[in-house]
Formats: sequence, structure tokens, C-alpha cells
Amino acid sequence: MSLKPSPLAMVPFVSVDNMMKLVNRIGIAEMIAGIADVIEEDFKRWPEFDKTPRVPSHSEDGVIELMPTSDGVTYGFKYVNGHPANMARGYQTVTAFGLLARVDTGYPIMLSEMTVLTALRTAATSVVAAKYLAPKGAKTMALIGNGAQCEFQSLAFQKVLGIDTVQLYDIDPAATQKAVKNLSETGLNVMACDSAQAAVSGAQIITTCTADKQYATILTDNMVGAGQHINAIGGDCPGKTELHKDILLRSDIFVEYPPQTRIEGEIQQLDPDHPVTELWKVITGDAQGRTDARQITLFDSVGFATEDFSALRYVHRMLAEHNIAQDLDMIADPDDPRDLFGMVQRAKETH
Ligand code: NAD
Repeated sequence: MSLKPSPLAMVPFVSVDNMMKLVNRIGIAEMIAGIADVIEEDFKRWPEFDKTPRVPSHSEDGVIELMPTSDGVTYGFKYVNGHPANMARGYQTVTAFGLLARVDTGYPIMLSEMTVLTALRTAATSVVAAKYLAPKGAKTMALIGNGAQCEFQSLAFQKVLGIDTVQLYDIDPAATQKAVKNLSETGLNVMACDSAQAAVSGAQIITTCTADKQYATILTDNMVGAGQHINAIGGDCPGKTELHKDILLRSDIFVEYPPQTRIEGEIQQLDPDHPVTELWKVITGDAQGRTDARQITLFDSVGFATEDFSALRYVHRMLAEHNIAQDLDMIADPDDPRDLFGMVQRAKETH
């Protein structure tokens, strides 16, 4: 009996290095646009998905979460952490990996890094929402919080929405300088601002992507004017928000999956029955998005499992075209399925 793993048991693994190879081959903005298409496709078939708020394990330092979903044919999950104090230790705030599996056999079909992929899918989800909610012809976006997500958000809005100017602000000027440098050859007009107030001035879209494990007030009510679209992505955990409650009370609020957003999003500050609209319904035409030019729209983004599933589906499609996977001997698969014990014993001969 062969001790070599059978091909079924080999799981394609997309490493960080190979993910970067894929991103650079396709182009960052193009890949975000491609993932946005799959996210939109999957939002359109929302009722097909198993949905559950993600499963968190909170600590004083941060949170570790599992995000599972299935469309009945394929199952997926992401492991992701959020540790705002990590940056000071020289670590990422958010790191992730994820898996897709066949529902009929339960066998994994791909394991992938998802730290880079999460930044791409978050930017992709932001632009899918903004397509339906942002004022038409928006050209300027404020970006408050210039950490890991910032440049991906900027490129996504340039590519999909036609934004030509980003106004950046971060409490840490080094973060803004990094973003200015990284965005210098993108064709975007990049302005470094010395306050959040300066950054939002004249912007039709405001993206908040700060990281702080507390009820923070990145935007106060006076900073938001008629007609603006707010893409709030940094408030994504119980006790971790970015917007003053009064802004929420003046906005039409759009969310991914209400049972999760009520726990984690900006709307944790509101009554549990405060009306919100599910983004998928806007995409299918079952609910209205932006209806007038003076309306303040708020996408209260927390990141939902189907978006990671869509991003993984996109990468899985690319496996055939691009040589980006290594085979991982991850599933014990004895020739006689009932003889797991025998397989271990026979392995003695080679170990
Ligand atoms: P990061 O730590 O790399 O960057 C966060 C930046 O925010 C830092 O540069 C920090 O200096 C800045 N900041 C903190 N407080 C600020 C304030 N009061 N004003 C201005 N800037 C401030 O984190 P990241 O990976 O870019 O993620 C940003 C946030 O987005 C995190 O809270 C993360 O949990 C969240 N996130 C959400 C989603 C989603 O789907 N909604 C996905 C990924 C990340």
C-alpha cells in the first residue's frame, strides 16, 4: 500500500507569497474589482447562504473570530483576529486565513492566506456598497485612519467609483506619510491633512478605518453634511465604534447582516429596533439605496462571512489559470477508509 498521499487528500494552499504574486499579476485595483463582482453576485443570491454572526473570542487585547458560511455546495470559513495594540508591538492589527470545502464530501478544496485577501475584500465590499449609496459623480474621498486598509480602499474607490482625490488623516503622521508615499504613483491626487475636520471638508465620501478598542469619536455630528456617504469600516466589535451617535440618527443606515451588525457595528449605539436596510436587498432592487441628493447614507460595515467566501471563490477560480498553489498534505486519507490505525502503523517503516 502506498504511503504517498492520494491527490484527493492534497489541498491546494495559497501562501502569502503566492497571494502577492497573484495580486501583482492581476493588479491590485483590478483584483479588487474582480472580487467586488463576485461579492455582488453572492449578495444577489443571499437567501441561499447559511448565515450566522461570527463566533468571537474576546480578550483584553483584542478578538479572535471564526466566520463560517455555506451556499449548500461549498462551505467556507475565515479565521481572523483584531488586536489594535499589535501595531505598537510591530505586528498587524488584523491577520487571517481561510478555507473552502466541498459540502458533499466535506473535503477541503483550498486553504489560503487571507490577511492580504481581507484588505482586498473589505475594499471590494466598500465599493459595492458605495456604488448603490454614494452620491453620483463623487470625486473626493476622506480617509481617516491610514493603516493597513487605507491604500486598498483608495485604489478601490478610484477604480470602481472614479474618485480622483483622497484626503488623508491619521493621529499618527507617520501612517499618513506611508500612505502618501504608497499612493504616489496611482494617479490619485493625495492630500495629507492635519485634522479629521480638514480631511472631510469638501469630500462626498468619508471612509473611517481607524483601530481602537473603545467607543471612539472619529467623526462628530458637525463634520458630516447633507449628501455625504459614510463608509464606516473601523467600528467592528462590541465596544469599538467610530461615529458619534447623532450622526447615526441623521443617516439612512445600510448593513450586511443585521444580527451581526447590531452586536458589532456603529448601530450597537442605537435601540435594537432602529430601522436599517440590508445591503443585499438594495442590490437585488428589493429595497431603495440613495434616493435623494441631500440624504446622508451610512454603510455600517463590519465584514461578513459571505464576503470572505466570495473572495475565496475568486481566488479558487484563479487556481486553474495561475500557478499559485502548493499541495498541502492536510487530510489523512487511508486507502482503506476504515484503516486509519493501519495507515499510522505502516508509516513507522518510513519515519
Ligand atoms: P491599522 O492598525 O493598520 O490602522 C489603523 C490606523 O488608525 C492607525 O494608523 C492608527 O494610527 C489610526 N487611528 C487610530 N485612532 C485614530 C483616530 N482617533 N483618528 C485617526 N486615526 C486613528 O488597522 P487596519 O488593518 O487598517 O484596520 C482599520 C480598522 O478596520 C480596524 O479597526 C479593523 O478592525 C477594521 N477592519 C474592518 C473590516 C470590515 O470588514 N469592516 C475589515 C478589516 C479591518
